Amino acid sequence: MPRFRQLSKILELMHEKERIRNLGIIAHIDHGKTTLTDSLLAGAGMLSPTVVGSARVLDYLEEEQRRKITMKAAYISLLYRSHAVNLVDTPGHVDFTGKVSRALRAIDGAVVVVDAVEGIMAQTEVVTRQALEERVRPVLFINKVDRLIAEMHLSVEEVDKKLQRIISSFNDLVEVYGEETFKEAWKLDPSHDNVAFGSALHGWGFTLRIARLNDVKFIDIVNAYRSNRQEELRERLPVYDAVLDMVIRSLPNPREAQGYRIEAIWDGPSSSGIGQVLAACKDDALAAACVTNVQTDADGSMIATGRIYSGRVRKGDTLHLIDAQIDEIVNHVYVQMGAFREEVAEVTAGNIFALAVCGKVKSGETLVDPLHKDVMVPFESLGYVSEPVLTVAIEPKDPKDLPLLTGAVGELSIEDPNLTFEVDGETGEYLLRGLGELHLEIALKQLNSHVPVTASTPQVVYRETITDQGINALAKSPNKRNTFVIQVEPLAEDREDTGTVLSIDEHRNVLFDCCGRIELIEEPVLESIIAGFEFACKAGPLCGEPVKHVKANLMDLQLSDDPSLRGPTEITRGVSKAVFGSFLTANPILLEPFYKTQISVPIEVSSECQRIVGSRRGKISGFEARNSLAFITASVPVAESSGLSRDLRSATSGRAFWQSILDRWEKMPDKLATAAIYELRKKRGLPSAIPKPERFLEEI
Ligand code: GDP
Repeated sequence: MPRFRQLSKILELMHEKERIRNLGIIAHIDHGKTTLTDSLLAGAGMLSPTVVGSARVLDYLEEEQRRKITMKAAYISLLYRSHAVNLVDTPGHVDFTGKVSRALRAIDGAVVVVDAVEGIMAQTEVVTRQALEERVRPVLFINKVDRLIAEMHLSVEEVDKKLQRIISSFNDLVEVYGEETFKEAWKLDPSHDNVAFGSALHGWGFTLRIARLNDVKFIDIVNAYRSNRQEELRERLPVYDAVLDMVIRSLPNPREAQGYRIEAIWDGPSSSGIGQVLAACKDDALAAACVTNVQTDADGSMIATGRIYSGRVRKGDTLHLIDAQIDEIVNHVYVQMGAFREEVAEVTAGNIFALAVCGKVKSGETLVDPLHKDVMVPFESLGYVSEPVLTVAIEPKDPKDLPLLTGAVGELSIEDPNLTFEVDGETGEYLLRGLGELHLEIALKQLNSHVPVTASTPQVVYRETITDQGINALAKSPNKRNTFVIQVEPLAEDREDTGTVLSIDEHRNVLFDCCGRIELIEEPVLESIIAGFEFACKAGPLCGEPVKHVKANLMDLQLSDDPSLRGPTEITRGVSKAVFGSFLTANPILLEPFYKTQISVPIEVSSECQRIVGSRRGKISGFEARNSLAFITASVPVAESSGLSRDLRSATSGRAFWQSILDRWEKMPDKLATAAIYELRKKRGLPSAIPKPERFLEEI
């Protein structure tokens, strides 16, 4: 069907909620997610069948590929037998960023692809668990069945046994991770058309229903391989038919799904008026949507992809962005079909959209009709943005690419607010910070597709803080004509202070005016005082790491009468010296980040896992046994976490899986702190000894 006819049909179907499916394909790496995606698109006439397996449409748009600009398509709509199927790209890895659960929020069902030879692997388990937690209903596609026949030469009975075992292990996952209300209904049974078998690479597949309709028995497939007629299978049993037929029959439509999913994926009370509107999935209702992905287009415009749960979004509409607390106008509304983004007039409830909005929208943002902004609760609370704890120093392979690199990193950090980028004041290095090794690895892969870069090994980010009150430190500006007296102390969240807060930074360092003369100071000087404080907190005196949770009290100041002698550099340096001087008398310490790691392992190897965690200075804080699995909650220093996954995996033959999030900062043991400080000072080209407070002070 020509593209424009497909588009007009999809637009028609947008209003018929029972004919829409929003789904993702999830899989362990290399189990065939990309190959299957290509087959589905080829089946929908969006890709030539000859390029299946090499085109990777969800990875790279054709058009963009031609222009050598790579960009991932966040979703694709396709038409299948009077149904609009929106295929959303769900990241296959579990990282710390919430990207996976964000993508899962947009879909109602998932096709879990499992390699028939390897069976259920750690990543299958992780992503299936997440899907179940978000109430995304799964179906199964057992892929690479050709290998059982052609490579392993298994008999029909052996194949049958192997496939049964995969289905039953999958049902074990549903039993363990599924919610009580759903798990029985969501367990899979081939006779209910929720399991398909096939070879995405060779283009064939079947459910029991399709095999019956086509009068095909498994032995016919084996015989086709034995007599080298597997090409026929592609014609007789196209894999897209098997998978999409299963999707349409066994996965819920958006209205049905929103009825039970809103309470799991939305933070507001589901019994409230707005909760009921979201669950109803109606076009003639207030507009409410969630942005799951933001990408920068080849022409530099930002494209936000997401799910609309209620109402409609039209070109020219004004929407309220709950997190950003602003109204923005929708410039364009698109439907993404194959490699093409088609502009449309509107997108309605229960569908996936791509929007170009004035201004900047971030992933995770909630969009709502401005009239209802006060009652709307966001889909994702802002707290999701975590603190980056690992850093890599990056540089372009070709120094000429530096501007390209900074541009590309800027875009990446908009798409993923958990990535930060800065230039180290001391070493001049370009630093990319992320939440974990995997997070950075993926970011680097994305960067490399724009600009070839080299990266250092990841380094842990530390914080400097104090445990005592420091002295009243008196420091002078370099020209000796301005004097500042500052005293630092640990920030006590619960104490009431009197005075004026002059500055609070992202690490909760507070500058406090205790001299009461601030009103008399002209604006530029005040700004320089604050800049001096912030400068000191950005790179502390121990080893140049950021300062955290410090309260600095400005006790007194004397400024030169001559304005030319109280310029910004003089003031900034004088203030930062006073902060450093007091800080170094306040029993400074180094803080290191800890992950809260949740591990699930077969119970028989759980004690070995606990030993591995213990050997890495980790502390076990929780242990729960459920069926044959143990769930261990542990606190592990980020510095010790590299290689943890490798050790856990080998101790459990790949059956352990875990998730880590930044939990807290803790004092580093003295010996380790001394070594870390020494290393960091060396790296930054600082003298090896920590400076004495006197270096910064005129007199005490
Ligand atoms: P992904 O990492 O899950 O996206 O996996 P890919 O689709 O990239 O596939 C990984 C590898 O498995 C590739 O070399 C594919 O050609 C191969 N592959 C995918 N599906 C099949 C299949 O049905 N049979 C066989 N024999 N190989 C397959």
